[in-house]
Amino acid sequence: MPAAPLTFLAEDERLFRDSVREFADRDVKPLVREMDEQAKFSRSLLEKLFGLGVMGIEIPESYGGSGGTFFHSVLAVEELSRVDPSVGVLVDVQNTLVINALLRWANDDIKRRYLPKLAASWTGAYALSEAGSGSDAFGLASRAVERDDAYVLSGRKLWITNAAEADLFIVFANINPEAGYRGITAFLVERSFPGFTVGKKEDKLGIRASSTCELLLEDCRVPKSNVLGDVGKGYKVAIETLNEGRIGIGAQMLGAARGALDHAVAYTKERKQFGKAIADFQGVQFQLARAASQVEAAKLLVYNAARLRDAGKPFLTEAAICKLFASEAAEQVTSLAVNLFGGYGFTKDYPVEKLYRDAKIGQIYEGTTNMQLQTIAKALLQ
Ligand SMILES: Cc1cc2nc3c(=O)[nH]c(=O)nc-3n(C[C@H](O)[C@H](O)[C@H](O)COP(=O)(O)OP(=O)(O)OC[C@H]3O[C@@H](n4cnc5c(N)ncnc54)[C@H](O)[C@@H]3O)c2cc1C
Repeated sequence: MPAAPLTFLAEDERLFRDSVREFADRDVKPLVREMDEQAKFSRSLLEKLFGLGVMGIEIPESYGGSGGTFFHSVLAVEELSRVDPSVGVLVDVQNTLVINALLRWANDDIKRRYLPKLAASWTGAYALSEAGSGSDAFGLASRAVERDDAYVLSGRKLWITNAAEADLFIVFANINPEAGYRGITAFLVERSFPGFTVGKKEDKLGIRASSTCELLLEDCRVPKSNVLGDVGKGYKVAIETLNEGRIGIGAQMLGAARGALDHAVAYTKERKQFGKAIADFQGVQFQLARAASQVEAAKLLVYNAARLRDAGKPFLTEAAICKLFASEAAEQVTSLAVNLFGGYGFTKDYPVEKLYRDAKIGQIYEGTTNMQLQTIAKALLQ
């Protein structure tokens, strides 16, 4: 049997995609501007996301999840980001980082304790970065000291997505700094644990409704039963989860680019100058055609990386390429959309200026563009 085209969706994938698309248009779209202006994620929207089943996509049905695939997560992130990349990234972190890490590294006890909660009402966050360690993530300074049946964590995390809403945090800290990255360990920290505080929320250029906060760990006691994976193997949890997570960011950027292109196509068909629609000018048509090519290429790269991952095939380089390409395409396509809206594109009365601001983050988080290039070059030259 010949292999199906990458963009061919199986029946369940198509139905799932359509339901998220309808939800995005019906329930997200009316809130986008207000959430952006107030820099606050709507609580009721968060509840609806759980109701839709997109906050536990890969969680098996036996734990109350949707029993879907990584590819389903990618479809959800893309469709939500087409309307609002802030909503896209909340769902992305929940699924491609937090739940993904638990499914892969948690023992049965942790799965039983946390997966049903994550599927039903708990939002998750993934806390690796610190003020002094971003690209050099393993240079983290947070420490964990063994005390009786617990580890006591101290340090500060920075830039943590979903922190304002989250109930559960995967926190990386080093139990043995002398061992370097081999001391890094992943801990599951509940928001209510004594010594744990969510600190300052960042005031950002884009994805403003997505919370990004500092975390403070002040002698925060974490039971040993909340170590995720093996002690000293947190670097593996971090790196392997992020390898998959960046496909999700590719999907977020693909969604943003698609959203901007859709707006640009609709607007240029309506806006008249020199007595005709601006879409009738070949100069504009060629710009739209180039943007459509970028979107299609980004889609192929993102879908391929996601399908490779679901097939259990190597996908490291493909994930880096898809994130690199989709984030650059998103910046270019959203910028073009602002141009094609003319003066209106520069105002908040139209959605493209927000997508343009939102697209910028794609080249920064889950590994900057230079870090993706480093991964791709390493594979190329080995
Ligand atoms: C909105 C937002 C949300 C985030 N969410 C999370 C989250 O949920 N969890 C989390 O753990 N982190 C999160 N982050 C952190 C994010 O992953 C880091 O900001 C990112 O990895 C870059 O690290 P940095 O900011 O320290 O920049 P730096 O590492 O200081 O990089 C600055 C510049 O130097 C370049 N550079 C650095 N090293 C090299 C090198 N060796 N070669 C070439 N160029 C290099 C980079 O490419 C970049 O252009 C978030 C950040 C933001 C802004």
